[in-house]
Amino acid sequence: MYDFIIIGGGILGMSTAMQLQRAYPDRRMLLVEKEPEAARHQTGHNSGVIHAGVYYTPGSLKARFCLAGNRATKAFCETHDIPYDSCGKLLVATNEREMQRMKALWERTEANGLEREWLEPGALAEREPNITGLGGIFVPSSGIVDYAAVTRAMAAEFERTGGEIRYKTEVTNLEERSQEVVVTTHDGDITGRYLVTCSGLMADRVIRMLGQDPEFSICPFRGEYYRLTEQHNDIVNHLIYPIPDPSMPFLGVHLTRMIDGSVTVGPNAVLAFKREGYRRRDVSPRDLTQMLTNPGIRKVLARNLRPGLAEMKNSLHKRGYLELVRKYCPSLTLDDLSPYPAGVRAQAVSRDGTLVDDFLFVNTRRTINVGNAPSPAATSAIPIGAHIVEQVKAQAS
Ligand SMILES: Cc1cc2nc3c(=O)[nH]c(=O)nc-3n(C[C@H](O)[C@H](O)[C@H](O)COP(=O)(O)OP(=O)(O)OC[C@H]3O[C@@H](n4cnc5c(N)ncnc54)[C@H](O)[C@@H]3O)c2cc1C
Repeated sequence: MYDFIIIGGGILGMSTAMQLQRAYPDRRMLLVEKEPEAARHQTGHNSGVIHAGVYYTPGSLKARFCLAGNRATKAFCETHDIPYDSCGKLLVATNEREMQRMKALWERTEANGLEREWLEPGALAEREPNITGLGGIFVPSSGIVDYAAVTRAMAAEFERTGGEIRYKTEVTNLEERSQEVVVTTHDGDITGRYLVTCSGLMADRVIRMLGQDPEFSICPFRGEYYRLTEQHNDIVNHLIYPIPDPSMPFLGVHLTRMIDGSVTVGPNAVLAFKREGYRRRDVSPRDLTQMLTNPGIRKVLARNLRPGLAEMKNSLHKRGYLELVRKYCPSLTLDDLSPYPAGVRAQAVSRDGTLVDDFLFVNTRRTINVGNAPSPAATSAIPIGAHIVEQVKAQAS
């Protein structure tokens, strides 16, 4: 019998496992992951941005954990010799409507306690000669890192301090009893006193295994990228972001300096027809049927039909995609965009058709389950893990 079992070898599962082991050094702990290695899904397919906390509603979990996570991620990288770069981020407004939205973001950054600088067009051109806009906000604390490397270091730390990891172990059922939780896998049953689940794109299904109705479903959105050809590796000095539409949950196609020195463009947000399907042609009849028969997801799709179709069109036509980035980086051409692997985001949608904005947990007496952990959850992984440890302590006391 284990004291704690953790499901999910993404950054949230590993961060939680590492911190639980630290909090309870003498207890037996096991992390199970269905893939052959850590960080195979969202954690290994993202932009690698250490977010500063620009966008999030003041006082929300996202705002709190992102701000703390920005510092904690950098400190973790220092301790574990993982390369990161505090390259800063520039938000660029390209028309009057975006200028208005940018002013609202400026207020928000103030409320969230961020250091930032307002840039007039001249200062913008000086900082970024290849970027054009009516103005910008510079946020120095944004950075970049390889989150898969961070996750592997957390896994190593968990194992070093006595934790056990079983890869290639898919959880197929869960049963919570009065004194224990039974975790059924393809390899047999495992029992633990307490269970934490961080199962990303499968979060709602794993919570349902406990007999709980989470009142939301995961809707997968593929985020497609291109990589700029190598001669453009120095085209920007910072991360360049458009001003997002506040009614949409995603941040818009951005230019991201990656920690390996390359620059990616993306991600867009298209409905994925398979939860862990990274190619356009990946379709899961089960996932698709569940999405199309889910009242909440149907409402989201109906409400966002026009932007959804535009995203799909730009996904199929590289030129449309290019125009999104040419709004602020006009020198780029079609030949500059080369293929790059996509990611799939797990976004919780509630029954009434609301995209759940904040991080969300679903707890029972012996389990803590991460229900919604979209971006900036990689940045926030250390504070989220600490938050889960606090909840476990409350349950176990
Ligand atoms: C395109 C994209 C760009 C993003 N950019 C950023 C960014 O720049 N900065 C940022 O902070 N965040 C970003 N994010 C968000 C961030 O990547 C995620 O929020 C974070 O990785 C979530 O981590 P996780 O551990 O919850 O999920 P995951 O990494 O998806 O891990 C979940 C794990 O659970 C396992 N699992 C699921 N079901 C089972 C089961 N039944 N049995 C065993 N194992 C199971 C899966 O195999 C998987 O390994 C981005 C996400 C995407 C997709």
